[in-house]
Amino acid sequence: MANYKRVLVAVDLTDDSDQVLQRAVDIAERNGAALHIIHVIEIISFAYGGDVPMDLTSLQEQIDKHANERMKAKAEALNYPVEETLVATGNTEEEIHQHADKIGADLIVIGSHGRHGLALVLGSTSNGVLHGAKCDILAVHLKEQG
Ligand code: AMP
Repeated sequence: MANYKRVLVAVDLTDDSDQVLQRAVDIAERNGAALHIIHVIEIISFAYGGDVPMDLTSLQEQIDKHANERMKAKAEALNYPVEETLVATGNTEEEIHQHADKIGADLIVIGSHGRHGLALVLGSTSNGVLHGAKCDILAVHLKEQG
Protein backbone atom coordinates (compact mmCIF):
# COMPACT_ATOMS: atom_id res chain seq x y z
CA MET A 1 0.00 0.00 0.00
CA ALA A 2 1.35 3.39 -1.01
CA ASN A 3 2.45 5.74 1.73
CA TYR A 4 1.24 9.16 0.70
CA LYS A 5 3.08 12.19 2.03
CA ARG A 6 1.45 15.07 0.19
CA VAL A 7 -2.20 14.95 -0.77
CA LEU A 8 -3.77 17.55 -3.06
CA VAL A 9 -7.56 17.66 -3.00
CA ALA A 10 -9.42 19.55 -5.73
CA VAL A 11 -12.77 21.03 -4.78
CA ASP A 12 -15.47 22.83 -6.75
CA LEU A 13 -16.74 24.33 -3.45
CA THR A 14 -20.25 22.89 -3.90
CA ASP A 15 -21.74 20.70 -1.16
CA ASP A 16 -20.28 17.69 -3.03
CA SER A 17 -16.86 18.95 -1.96
CA ASP A 18 -17.48 17.73 1.58
CA GLN A 19 -17.47 14.09 0.42
CA VAL A 20 -14.23 14.63 -1.48
CA LEU A 21 -12.60 16.50 1.40
CA GLN A 22 -13.61 13.86 3.94
CA ARG A 23 -12.03 11.10 1.85
CA ALA A 24 -8.86 13.14 1.47
CA VAL A 25 -8.74 13.76 5.21
CA ASP A 26 -9.18 10.03 5.93
CA ILE A 27 -6.22 9.21 3.68
CA ALA A 28 -4.07 12.07 4.96
CA GLU A 29 -4.77 11.03 8.53
CA ARG A 30 -3.86 7.39 7.92
CA ASN A 31 -0.62 8.39 6.19
CA GLY A 32 0.28 11.40 8.32
CA ALA A 33 0.32 13.36 5.07
CA ALA A 34 0.25 17.11 4.42
CA LEU A 35 -3.12 18.18 3.06
CA HIS A 36 -3.39 20.83 0.33
CA ILE A 37 -6.71 22.07 -1.06
CA ILE A 38 -7.13 23.74 -4.43
CA HIS A 39 -10.07 25.45 -6.11
CA VAL A 40 -9.76 26.89 -9.60
CA ILE A 41 -11.73 29.83 -10.92
CA GLU A 42 -12.07 29.84 -14.66
CA ILE A 43 -11.54 33.34 -16.06
CA ILE A 44 -14.91 34.53 -17.36
CA SER A 45 -13.64 36.30 -20.48
CA PHE A 46 -11.60 33.21 -21.42
CA ALA A 47 -14.68 31.05 -21.06
CA TYR A 48 -16.35 33.23 -23.70
CA GLY A 49 -13.45 33.15 -26.10
CA GLY A 50 -11.67 36.17 -24.60
CA ASP A 51 -13.88 38.56 -26.53
CA VAL A 52 -16.40 40.04 -24.13
CA PRO A 53 -17.28 43.70 -24.85
CA MET A 54 -17.57 44.75 -21.20
CA ASP A 55 -15.43 45.13 -18.11
CA LEU A 56 -15.81 42.01 -16.01
CA THR A 57 -13.25 43.04 -13.38
CA SER A 58 -15.69 43.67 -10.56
CA LEU A 59 -17.65 40.48 -11.26
CA GLN A 60 -14.40 38.51 -11.29
CA GLU A 61 -13.39 40.13 -7.99
CA GLN A 62 -16.69 39.14 -6.40
CA ILE A 63 -16.28 35.56 -7.61
CA ASP A 64 -12.73 35.48 -6.17
CA LYS A 65 -13.90 36.88 -2.82
CA HIS A 66 -16.77 34.40 -2.58
CA ALA A 67 -14.49 31.48 -3.48
CA ASN A 68 -11.91 32.51 -0.88
CA GLU A 69 -14.60 32.72 1.80
CA ARG A 70 -16.06 29.32 0.92
CA MET A 71 -12.59 27.79 0.81
CA LYS A 72 -11.73 29.18 4.25
CA ALA A 73 -14.99 27.87 5.75
CA LYS A 74 -14.49 24.41 4.26
CA ALA A 75 -10.89 24.19 5.46
CA GLU A 76 -11.81 25.32 8.97
CA ALA A 77 -14.59 22.73 9.19
CA LEU A 78 -12.11 19.85 8.75
CA ASN A 79 -10.84 17.92 11.73
CA TYR A 80 -7.36 17.78 10.21
CA PRO A 81 -4.70 20.47 9.83
CA VAL A 82 -4.61 21.97 6.35
CA GLU A 83 -1.13 22.74 5.05
CA GLU A 84 -2.36 25.09 2.33
CA THR A 85 -5.50 26.38 0.66
CA LEU A 86 -5.19 27.80 -2.83
CA VAL A 87 -7.73 29.59 -4.98
CA ALA A 88 -6.10 29.65 -8.40
CA THR A 89 -7.29 31.24 -11.63
CA GLY A 90 -7.09 29.60 -15.03
CA ASN A 91 -7.92 26.28 -16.61
CA THR A 92 -8.99 23.80 -13.93
CA GLU A 93 -7.11 20.72 -15.13
CA GLU A 94 -3.94 22.69 -15.92
CA GLU A 95 -3.90 24.48 -12.59
CA ILE A 96 -4.41 21.23 -10.68
CA HIS A 97 -1.58 19.52 -12.60
CA GLN A 98 0.75 22.49 -12.18
CA HIS A 99 0.12 22.81 -8.49
CA ALA A 100 0.47 19.07 -7.93
CA ASP A 101 3.89 19.26 -9.61
CA LYS A 102 4.89 22.36 -7.67
CA ILE A 103 4.19 20.87 -4.25
CA GLY A 104 5.32 17.36 -5.19
CA ALA A 105 1.91 15.81 -4.54
CA ASP A 106 1.89 12.02 -4.57
CA LEU A 107 -1.90 11.80 -4.59
CA ILE A 108 -4.62 13.97 -6.10
CA VAL A 109 -8.12 13.44 -4.72
CA ILE A 110 -11.00 14.55 -6.92
CA GLY A 111 -14.75 14.00 -7.11
CA SER A 112 -16.46 12.04 -9.83
CA HIS A 113 -20.16 12.38 -10.57
CA GLY A 114 -20.11 9.49 -12.97
CA ARG A 115 -23.22 10.76 -14.71
CA HIS A 116 -21.76 12.63 -17.64
CA GLY A 117 -18.60 12.66 -19.65
CA LEU A 118 -16.56 9.59 -20.32
CA ALA A 119 -18.56 6.39 -20.25
CA LEU A 120 -20.43 7.34 -17.07
CA VAL A 121 -17.30 6.56 -15.11
CA LEU A 122 -15.56 9.88 -14.67
CA GLY A 123 -16.88 13.42 -14.76
CA SER A 124 -15.25 15.83 -17.16
CA THR A 125 -12.85 17.42 -14.69
CA SER A 126 -11.78 14.15 -13.14
CA ASN A 127 -11.21 12.72 -16.60
CA GLY A 128 -9.11 15.73 -17.58
CA VAL A 129 -7.07 15.56 -14.39
CA LEU A 130 -6.46 11.84 -14.79
CA HIS A 131 -4.89 12.41 -18.20
CA GLY A 132 -1.45 13.88 -17.81
CA ALA A 133 -1.20 13.45 -14.06
CA LYS A 134 2.23 12.41 -12.78
CA CYS A 135 0.98 10.92 -9.53
CA ASP A 136 -1.82 8.70 -8.25
CA ILE A 137 -5.37 9.96 -8.62
CA LEU A 138 -8.28 8.98 -6.42
CA ALA A 139 -11.67 9.67 -8.00
CA VAL A 140 -14.22 9.76 -5.19
CA HIS A 141 -17.61 8.58 -6.37
CA LEU A 142 -20.03 11.34 -5.44
CA LYS A 143 -23.29 10.15 -3.99
CA GLU A 144 -26.38 12.13 -4.87
CA GLN A 145 -27.28 14.41 -1.99
CA GLY A 146 -30.89 13.91 -0.90
P1 AMP B 1 -17.21 17.66 -12.48
O1 AMP B 1 -16.29 17.72 -13.62
O2 AMP B 1 -18.09 18.85 -12.37
O3 AMP B 1 -17.97 16.38 -12.42
O4 AMP B 1 -16.31 17.76 -11.15
C1 AMP B 1 -15.70 16.62 -10.65
C2 AMP B 1 -14.68 17.02 -9.60
O5 AMP B 1 -13.67 17.84 -10.19
C3 AMP B 1 -15.19 17.84 -8.42
O6 AMP B 1 -15.79 17.05 -7.43
C4 AMP B 1 -13.87 18.43 -7.93
O7 AMP B 1 -13.11 17.46 -7.22
C5 AMP B 1 -13.16 18.73 -9.24
N1 AMP B 1 -13.44 20.09 -9.70
C6 AMP B 1 -14.44 20.51 -10.52
N2 AMP B 1 -14.38 21.84 -10.72
C7 AMP B 1 -13.30 22.28 -10.01
C8 AMP B 1 -12.70 23.55 -9.78
N3 AMP B 1 -13.19 24.65 -10.36
N4 AMP B 1 -11.60 23.63 -9.01
C9 AMP B 1 -11.08 22.52 -8.44
N5 AMP B 1 -11.61 21.29 -8.60
C10 AMP B 1 -12.70 21.16 -9.37
